[in-house]
Amino acid sequence: MQGLMMEYPLTLTHFLERARRLFPKKEIVSKMPGGALHRYTYADMTARAARLANALKKLGVAPGERVATFGWNSYRHLETYFAIPCSGAVLHTLNIRLFPDDVSYIANHAEDKVVIVDASLLPAFEKIAPQLKTVEQYIVMADAPFETSLPNALDYETLLAESSPDFEWQRLDEQSAAAMCYTSGTTGKPKGCAYSHRALFLHALGAASADSLGISERDVALPIVPMFHVFAWGVPFAATMVGAKQVFAGPNMQPQDIAELIQNERVTIAAGVPTIWIGLLAFLEREQYDLSSLRVMPVGGAAAPPALIETFQKKFGVQILHAWGMTEMSPLGTVARVKPEMLALPEAEQFRVRFKQGRPVAGVEIRAVDEAGNEVAWDGATMGELEVRGPWIIRAYYNSPGSEDRFHDGWFRTGDVVTIDADGYIQIVDRTKDLVKSGGEWISTVELESAIMGHPKVLEAAVIAVPHAKWQERPLACVVPKPDSAGQISKEEILEYLQTKFAKWWLPDDVVFIDQIPKTSVGKFDKKVLREKFKEYALAE
Ligand code: AMP
Repeated sequence: MQGLMMEYPLTLTHFLERARRLFPKKEIVSKMPGGALHRYTYADMTARAARLANALKKLGVAPGERVATFGWNSYRHLETYFAIPCSGAVLHTLNIRLFPDDVSYIANHAEDKVVIVDASLLPAFEKIAPQLKTVEQYIVMADAPFETSLPNALDYETLLAESSPDFEWQRLDEQSAAAMCYTSGTTGKPKGCAYSHRALFLHALGAASADSLGISERDVALPIVPMFHVFAWGVPFAATMVGAKQVFAGPNMQPQDIAELIQNERVTIAAGVPTIWIGLLAFLEREQYDLSSLRVMPVGGAAAPPALIETFQKKFGVQILHAWGMTEMSPLGTVARVKPEMLALPEAEQFRVRFKQGRPVAGVEIRAVDEAGNEVAWDGATMGELEVRGPWIIRAYYNSPGSEDRFHDGWFRTGDVVTIDADGYIQIVDRTKDLVKSGGEWISTVELESAIMGHPKVLEAAVIAVPHAKWQERPLACVVPKPDSAGQISKEEILEYLQTKFAKWWLPDDVVFIDQIPKTSVGKFDKKVLREKFKEYALAE
């Protein structure tokens, strides 16, 4: 027997229309280049999205064609998030921090037809544009008259002013592509993910649900994670769906900008990678800001150091919600909330649960497999590669022959090594390629560096494998001291600090002090650069 429910397509148009009808007065605030605040409402946003959809149609953008963005987090970027997919085209967010060759490779691979670029990014983008083979039209988002070498560039605001604020949104196939992102790929060429409307719709429901990130109409959401990095983790889609106030930081990403936005806009939920919050914490140790509005801070993209989670909670009463995900998963996979029955446990034990990456969000299935592909026990100890499946996880990369080995019996192979405990909490041990293989045994660089970052004199730390004559590989710790501790911290102090936490054979063979940890385009530690730098580092026998 079949169910008798309507065939109602799950598309982003539903969110757009819902916001227009139900939340017209709710505010969207953006801090623009130069620091000025721009404020408008969902009524303005939805009308301008309709104008943009009309403009794109007039420019000849057909359903399925890719319209790329090259921009900071802002209200205009949010308009493109809806105008492009809801008009049937495909939103392709380009990563503004990649090297020019990577951006042009990605835009050519996706065959972008139009690129919408922030005026403040024109100097960077103009270096990329000559390499773009399929782009027919550039549109510039500017607050003032601009000059550019881009051929026939149009002004976003003029286009919108000349277009009608009414657009007849068509009924779309929920399985059609709404958007694309490329992986930040630390190995090989970036690979494309093509997200369907259905995937982004269900992901927004999953992300907003109470035991997940928990985003509601009462929230004020500040995604610090860039809108070019997996749609700022889907926060703008979820926030629009529920009618939350949204705040965008633009290029203003210094700790002071973030603290000011949280304080002045009464932000309740702010999301970003650990490095952002490590910087904010160091700033808050010197400066006084009122963060009392903050309810929760989802942190992921890289392991959140335990000391970061604990300090924000104890010093500022802010709950860091550790989460794990991937570009290939739209991106949310797991969230580390304490189960109600654990609330009676001592504080330290509850923290230990929150330091893990958490349990799968409804919609995501997980398992860990050994090298033979067999599932390993959920015992919190046995390691295996994490595999996932669900309605917002890719089933293939876009036009990427040879990438089939990333899939296994209908599961996506994440490349992350994990343990899963009896309650279903995963703990990321490492990326498969980052693990240190010492005498045939694995050492987790994530655990070591997270622990080192708990030392009061340490700002950041990354641990890498370096070749070793006897053990094949041994861990080397690269440590950045806090500014006021530079020159006042020794290798012995670090090793002593680790001694009580790890078995002796896990301890790094050496500690080097460096000025900064190199970062990837999305703000994660770039261990590839460190490995290259220290590949001939001589460890004592
Ligand atoms: P990306 O697709 O750029 O977002 O990178 C996804 C990868 O980031 C994952 O496969 C993990 O290796 C890593 N990652 C994401 N979240 C976490 C987390 N909470 N802890 C540790 N690693 C993480």
